Amino acid sequence: MKRIFPLIVVLISLSVIGILFIQMSWINNAIKLKHDEFVKGVDNTLSKTRDVLQDRFIQKKYVGYMSADSRQYELKNNFTVMGVFTNQEIRDIIEQRLKEHNIKYKYEFCVTNIFNNIVFQSPGFQVTDIHNSYHILLSPADSYHSKESLFLFIREDKNQVLRDMAWMIVASIVFTTIIILAFSLTVRTLFNQKKLSEIKSDFINNMTHELKTPLATISLAIDALTNEKVIHDVDKIKLYSSMIKEENKRMNKQVEKILQAARLEKEEIKLNLQKLNAHQIITKVTENLSLQIQEKNGVLRLLLNAPMFSIEADEVHFANIIFNLLDNAMKYSNSAPYIEVETLNGPNNLLSIRIKDNGIGMDKETQGRIFEKFYRAHTGNLHNVKGFGLGLSYVKAIVEAHEGKIKVESAPGKGSTFTVSFPLSER
Ligand code: ADP
Repeated sequence: MKRIFPLIVVLISLSVIGILFIQMSWINNAIKLKHDEFVKGVDNTLSKTRDVLQDRFIQKKYVGYMSADSRQYELKNNFTVMGVFTNQEIRDIIEQRLKEHNIKYKYEFCVTNIFNNIVFQSPGFQVTDIHNSYHILLSPADSYHSKESLFLFIREDKNQVLRDMAWMIVASIVFTTIIILAFSLTVRTLFNQKKLSEIKSDFINNMTHELKTPLATISLAIDALTNEKVIHDVDKIKLYSSMIKEENKRMNKQVEKILQAARLEKEEIKLNLQKLNAHQIITKVTENLSLQIQEKNGVLRLLLNAPMFSIEADEVHFANIIFNLLDNAMKYSNSAPYIEVETLNGPNNLLSIRIKDNGIGMDKETQGRIFEKFYRAHTGNLHNVKGFGLGLSYVKAIVEAHEGKIKVESAPGKGSTFTVSFPLSER
């Protein structure tokens, strides 16, 4: 999968570029073909006009049968359009032939004599047009006296050519755009699927690991309880039972976290709002964590300075938020954690709770993603930090359900500060 994916992207990109290239050369060829067709049409028009003029010349000048040789002789020596054809007659002959070749552009013409002087011209013909005209010798090539040439000036309208092909060009642009759009959509979906499957397998690995450890400890403790030496020792039984209880609690906590996330997924956040003393709950949560902090030789300082600390909130969810933020502050730290919990009243009747740690911190990119479900940053040399990447997405969802706000300030190696704000109770 890892190698196939880039290969597919490269192959499809190459095909799209190839198709674009082929289409462009098709359109180019079509324009060239149209031009060739036009030039051929003009050439045919000229040669047919010459033939008709010669025929009519003979008909006008001589009556009765004439052999091919004498016809050729007469043409060679006497052919001329001057005094024989009117402007309109020549125009009609040319027009008829152009129509046969489906050439609809405006045209002008002139006839020159053996000295290249114009002897005959249509009213709109300009002398300078002669250089850009298609021409043909009207008299036979071996005539001596009356060598006359017909010059036909037609400006090929390139825009008309493009207009004729407009549907082809527009259709190819539309289809190519659709292909490119569909392709980028497919690549994006593939990327998302890939990310999702990685996240999923990470999550399953995490979960199994998190549940396996307490299960193994419980199993060992139960083995120990059934041991002959232990079964009569009340102290040991108490010790192993409390171990089982502790591990059980840990497992419960993990399962609860997953359930919290599942509930968020279904958008089932039901808040049991009531007037709460935020300071009291914060103190209670920190007391519950004090043992863990002591174990890590850490310090937790409470700076509950906000004069107004009554908020309208769900007690369980609010306690979970504080717990999750403090839990992270302890987890993501290389040394003994130093954590400060400060409350203050900001503008707009808010109670802000700032949880500041001296941990590993995060770069800007990580900060932008930590509230995504399942996102976990690579914690560098900090190994063995357990988690599902669900805590902060839960915190954010609950804070927002309370119409509150959450923000993070952090820098790698400089610790992090999370600030959550709740509207104050108006009661
Ligand atoms: P979990 O802790 O289970 O991985 P969270 O949603 O609580 O999930 O956190 C997401 C990620 O945010 C963590 O994996 C970690 O990389 C980062 N993070 C959260 N809190 C902190 C903190 N206080 N200091 C540094 N990084 C943190």
